[in-house]
Amino acid sequence: MITIGITGGIGSGKSTVSQLFELLGIPVYIADRESKRLVATSPVIKEKLIAMFGEELFDGGVLDKALLATHIFNDKEKLAAVNAIIHPEVKNDFINWASSQAHFPVVAQEAAILFESGFDKLMDKVVMVYTPLDMRIERVMARDNIPREKVLERIQNQMPDEQKAELSDFVIVNDNKLSLIAQVQTIVDKLRG
Ligand code: ADP
Repeated sequence: MITIGITGGIGSGKSTVSQLFELLGIPVYIADRESKRLVATSPVIKEKLIAMFGEELFDGGVLDKALLATHIFNDKEKLAAVNAIIHPEVKNDFINWASSQAHFPVVAQEAAILFESGFDKLMDKVVMVYTPLDMRIERVMARDNIPREKVLERIQNQMPDEQKAELSDFVIVNDNKLSLIAQVQTIVDKLRG
């Protein structure tokens, strides 16, 4: 089995590209969605978060996301510590998920923070989705209904595109000029040999 990571900055079109991979028969693990599920359900994560922040982090057994956000807001060390609790669980979950897809020759994981979390090392190949900055800003403003400054703030918190591109095996350009589906198909053909 070949595993591929799909990454790219906010608004680059990762989710859109992941859907195309799925249409071409490649199952995709959506790390962002699964990590949210694990944070809500994993007893291991719960226990470690309580050890760090106290019982009040869980209100009637349910994680108080707003309280967690206030703890890690503007505190890089605490954010790193929370990530160190969550990421290994996501990693295990991905490995279990991938082994349950053993009949597929290629599976993928979509993660905005693929490199930052070190998950790229789990993947045989990495695909980065690249979109010119102006286009990303417009798309996120429209998708999330938020002002330009908020989008820029999120973009500035992420690893620069140039760095991501350098670390990737394939770069998909999602600029409405090149066909997205053709680019995905070319990668799939290469990976399937
Ligand atoms: P990401 O998952 O990387 O944040 P999305 O896949 O959600 O990005 O894409 C951001 C927004 O741009 C979405 O609303 C999506 O529908 C739109 N979008 C993505 N690719 C294109 C494209 N090629 N043409 C037009 N809109 C697009």
